[in-house]
Amino acid sequence: MSTRPSPRNVLAAKSESTSDAAPISSNRGSGIRRAVLPEPLPPPSDALAAALTFLEGVASRRMCREELRSWIDRNLVQSGYMARPWRIQEPLFGAVPADKHCSSFLPEIPPTDETAAILVRTRARVVGHLRGLLRSPADDRFLSAAIFAGRVRRVVVGDTMQWVPRPRSHDILSDIVTSLFVSDILGRREFYAQNLCVCDTCGRVRFDPEPPQRNKCFFC
Ligand SMILES: [Zn+2]
Repeated sequence: MSTRPSPRNVLAAKSESTSDAAPISSNRGSGIRRAVLPEPLPPPSDALAAALTFLEGVASRRMCREELRSWIDRNLVQSGYMARPWRIQEPLFGAVPADKHCSSFLPEIPPTDETAAILVRTRARVVGHLRGLLRSPADDRFLSAAIFAGRVRRVVVGDTMQWVPRPRSHDILSDIVTSLFVSDILGRREFYAQNLCVCDTCGRVRFDPEPPQRNKCFFC
């Protein structure tokens, strides 16, 4: 049975486990010492939860052709973000300009199964984009690329404007998955600036307000 964290506990695990190490503040004058607990991270948006599920599914090799199809149906088609694609495609590495930051997340030996090969290329590109946000200065060109291409849109929800994914059914799979992240990032840049962690070694993406290192995970 897998022990990998689900998208929701990828977000919450740290804040639940750090209470022992919480700093103690002295309440001067009253003599009462009060523990200052870290703020719990907010639950992920649907778009972020879907994107994390994809990355974890590929990393753990749980995602196969059928699972990919149902992930797209569940998270993109039924939510009205895009029409069902008739074909899933992801070009070979080197065909997309941003590839130079992404290739380190490819396995040394590419899978022979076509769907698995598409999935690992997709994950490598998406993780490479996210890693750009941790650079100094940040490389966030994938955000403007998604806006310019119309893969995210601002819509009125109630009395607020929100970014939503709007990939097209002929987009490559990494652009489709990236659009889920982009819509979430544009709505809360500060959250990503404070909590995003991307492991340089395995590409694991998680959110942690107090990580030992933002570019390392618990396992690497
Ligand atoms: Zn790692």
